[in-house]
Amino acid sequence: MNFLKKNTGQYQLKLDTLIDNMKNTGFLTDSRVEHAIRQNPRHYFLPESSKNRAYENSPIPVMKNQTISQPSVVSRMTEWLDLKEGQKVLEIGSGSGWQCAILAKMVGKGKIFTIERHDSLANFAKKNLENLGIKNAKIIHGDGRLGLPEESPFDRIMITAACKEIPKTLMNQLAMDGLLIAPVGEDIQSLILIRKTPKGFVEIKNQKGYVFVPLL
Ligand code: SAH
Repeated sequence: MNFLKKNTGQYQLKLDTLIDNMKNTGFLTDSRVEHAIRQNPRHYFLPESSKNRAYENSPIPVMKNQTISQPSVVSRMTEWLDLKEGQKVLEIGSGSGWQCAILAKMVGKGKIFTIERHDSLANFAKKNLENLGIKNAKIIHGDGRLGLPEESPFDRIMITAACKEIPKTLMNQLAMDGLLIAPVGEDIQSLILIRKTPKGFVEIKNQKGYVFVPLL
């Protein structure tokens, strides 16, 4: 933990500037989300060669042509998902593990399951989470489109790769009153938040203008 404090210190100014920027542009409004971002310094989730870019508000390549998501987008998706202590969450597309770490912080004693199709990225994410001592997250190497029926239903589902439409299999694994967020579309996506209700799925939010790597 001392190690973490010391290392965050080195990047403190850049982190503070990024946080201010996200607040000023309306992407960060919830102090719980701010805390979760601060507790999971982004440079822990980047390869050595690009750690110095960790506090840029942009996606950054990690490996296998995949990227760690843009901080303002991670913040917005986390806020929209309206996470509560103790919830069980499924993430599709572990990538670096950064979003997963933030979700893990948000649910406290709850649990995150995250699925990644690239073995090397799944291992990278696993190591990054271990380095921060995160214990309530499980990384699974596999096809996220299938979800994780044996652990369903989930209170929350977050898809962090662009899908043409939200996979029905994942919608089926959502708990009643649960929320699912996903970037939907081809070149440019809309961020869509839906809720499962006794009368069916209801769209809560839909905002254009996001770009994610594709769900394959
Ligand atoms: N959440 C990540 C960023 C995700 S980038 C982070 O915080 O860093 C999207 C990820 O989805 C990529 O790592 C990509 O390999 C993965 N992906 C794409 N299609 C997938 C699928 N069908 N199943 C699981 N992972 C998938």
